[in-house]
Amino acid sequence: MAIATINPATGETVQTFDAATDDEIERALALASSCAASYRSTTFAQRSAWMQATADLLEAEADNVAAMMTLEMGKTLASAKAEVLKCAKGFRFYADNAEAMVADEEANASAVGAKKAFVRYQPLGVVLAVMPWNFPLWQVVRFAAPALMIGNVGLLKHASNVPQSALYLADVIRRGGFPEGCFQTLLIGSGAVEGILRDPRVAAATLTGSEPAGRSVAAIAGDEVKHTVLELGGSDPYVVMPSADLDAAARVAVTARVQNNGQSCIAAKRFIVHTDVYDAFAAKFVELMSNLTVGDPTDPATDVGPLATEQGRVDVEELVDAAAAKGASILCGGKRSDGPGWFYPPTVVADITTDMDMYLAEVFGPVASLYRVADIDEAVAVANATTFGLGSNAWTTDEAEQERFINDLDAGQVFINGMTISYPELPFGGTRRSGNGRELSAHGIREFCNVKTVWVG
Ligand code: NDP
Repeated sequence: MAIATINPATGETVQTFDAATDDEIERALALASSCAASYRSTTFAQRSAWMQATADLLEAEADNVAAMMTLEMGKTLASAKAEVLKCAKGFRFYADNAEAMVADEEANASAVGAKKAFVRYQPLGVVLAVMPWNFPLWQVVRFAAPALMIGNVGLLKHASNVPQSALYLADVIRRGGFPEGCFQTLLIGSGAVEGILRDPRVAAATLTGSEPAGRSVAAIAGDEVKHTVLELGGSDPYVVMPSADLDAAARVAVTARVQNNGQSCIAAKRFIVHTDVYDAFAAKFVELMSNLTVGDPTDPATDVGPLATEQGRVDVEELVDAAAAKGASILCGGKRSDGPGWFYPPTVVADITTDMDMYLAEVFGPVASLYRVADIDEAVAVANATTFGLGSNAWTTDEAEQERFINDLDAGQVFINGMTISYPELPFGGTRRSGNGRELSAHGIREFCNVKTVWVG
């Protein structure tokens, strides 16, 4: 895949970039390694100041950065700006809280025959981050903010279609005051990842993206006995029970599905509705989805911009067309418009059966699947009938039903009467094929740590 900025709203190639040479990769690895040796000795106060300065820059530059993100991957300008500000908040969160999260943890010394026993969290060193284009800043910051605060050093291999975002991230972190080499962007294709991951100077890796990419990186890391965190997407259920506020459930369902032009790992993708409220919910939901404005992502009136890549639209289109050919009902959308750009309309599909690829696939576009279920047992069964387990959503005011969903939805996150959102304060990650490990909160900062046991006799 060429490393290039291609405007998804027009299909026009705006700028191409040369991939890093072997010599440049070697220089980056050497710099990262030497930086890691000294950076680990900087203080929390120093790192916190650099984090705050980076957050200041992000806030000051938000408009220009948002325009660049929209140009590279087609998200609406408003959502791009919100993402930049969220990144600033993420930096500030770890600037304020990291030290306490990784403070020494006292253990019961007498129980282990010691004068003193405790756990100390220490950085691992150089961590390789392989990142996707869908939230070109936030996906990276989710890793970078905690990693930098504990004293790790980052090497970023970003998706090939967001090179300007990739270069900006390294630049803004450097301008925030972090020492040279703390966070570098390598413009490389995925073929160059293996050599870097096998390099002894790289301690661990994190990847957000597709299952095949995750499997490949995890296999190489496993062979090298290196730790990985994987965030590999999902097909999140969104269950609506009879006690739910249907207007709110339908309104939030639309946002949960079409956020980021439908390209979010934690987007609600399968809408599982109790038969007593199915018709009423479906009518409201389809009406709201049909009324969305699709178009130029820089226009403030636009709700849904183009998909980020031409292939992404082909993938979505093929899933919908194949389901329709097997008897699924297309309640709205389902046909791409003519003209330039990789637009695909908000689409609702019902009557999906298990022999359709759509039943199991992650549909990475503004396409909702509707399922009718008879009771809570069937709702839980359909919700869990996927290989993924990232986020999940359930709408009910019945406390017993809420408990049932909290306990039985097989996912890393359960949101009741709301939609799944990533917050710096809460752990983020999945079960099953959605990956392993956790990002954000105290869990996220401890992922790339040596959890060192200390026993003093
Ligand atoms: P990919 O998984 O291919 O890309 C994500 C990142 O992984 C990119 O940096 C990519 O580099 C890199 N990569 C890809 N293959 C390998 C590999 N074998 N070894 C090392 N790195 C690799 O996602 P796509 O953009 O192709 O999207 C395909 C599907 O993945 C989507 O339709 C969606 O289902 C899922 N996805 C999920 C995301 C999430 O948030 N969890 C985000 C993006 C996609 P390069 O760009 O150079 O290929």
